[in-house]
Amino acid sequence: MMTDALLTVDDVRVEFNTRRGKATVLNGVSFEVNAGETLCIVGESGCGKSMTALAVLGLVPTPPGRVAGGRMLYRGEDLFAATPARMREVRGNRISMIFQEPMTSLNPVYTVGDQIGESLRLHQKLSPQAAREKAIAMLKQVGIPAAGQRVDEYPHQMSGGMRQRVMIAMALACEPDILIADEPTTALDVTVQAQIFDLLRALQKDKGTAIMLITHDMGAVAEMADRVMVMYAGRVIEQGTTAEVLGSPLHPYTQGLIECLPELGSSQLDEGSDTTLAEIPGVVPSLWELGSGCAFRERCPHAMARCASEVPGMVRPPGGASAHAAACWLLDKDTNMARTDAMAA
Ligand code: SF4
Repeated sequence: MMTDALLTVDDVRVEFNTRRGKATVLNGVSFEVNAGETLCIVGESGCGKSMTALAVLGLVPTPPGRVAGGRMLYRGEDLFAATPARMREVRGNRISMIFQEPMTSLNPVYTVGDQIGESLRLHQKLSPQAAREKAIAMLKQVGIPAAGQRVDEYPHQMSGGMRQRVMIAMALACEPDILIADEPTTALDVTVQAQIFDLLRALQKDKGTAIMLITHDMGAVAEMADRVMVMYAGRVIEQGTTAEVLGSPLHPYTQGLIECLPELGSSQLDEGSDTTLAEIPGVVPSLWELGSGCAFRERCPHAMARCASEVPGMVRPPGGASAHAAACWLLDKDTNMARTDAMAA
């Protein structure tokens, strides 16, 4: 693993105890986030994208959930070992998050200025007047006109796009190192989506903030990501640069996602085209019924006997020079040789 990563997520396991039994919602998840980059986390609903974000923020609901293993290193400090007070300091100050639907995250009874100013007063000990001035500056920075007046408005007085900008202003007020954006534009129309992505890119360039973008929109991935991580049934199944993962996907699941999106083949995404993840035949298996083997095997056109009994680990393709890797037995040299022999026989 690289040592200069801002965030190192190492073999993280999160379990939930439910009436149906124990479900492992994150299973050996490992990745890194480096300063100034955008890492996109992709996958269908229920694959573990949002739970990964909650784990980073120390917000796994406990009980019924619990972190059952692994390390979460922020600048070398293990956040899983941090006190609740230290986690509150990190959250919102050094690592912050914007959510899918701002109306559920903004408090309807406080003005947007009070809400942006709250974290500044809490984390940066600003006076009420200084926090208000910084809130106005942040509203200006995220492109809200007449910021001096709008700072005193309530969330319901703003459009969806404006509220999402307020969320971004709140998340960035303390100049965090890492911004986690969980489907930040899903509730917005295409034009506003493009504006929000432009804004995130501009702020990233200006401040060097690392962005973890959680999305099911491959158009957003192509537009925003430096690196891509694909998740399936609580595991990371492929990681690499955007060009590698979108241009030469290794895992049959990633290949399926991209084959459903012909416009990605040319890397020329038409603005406004529908690039959300299309259906791959079959459904994501229930986390209670994974059993042994590769979780994708019921949907995989290349499944072999070994896929039903052993979980593949992350492997780099033979001769691969980069960190592009996937978890699939097709990349295993011995398995591949045996398969080629069997096909030839
Ligand atoms: Fe398909 Fe087997 Fe690879 Fe899983 S390990 S993706 S079932 S070939």
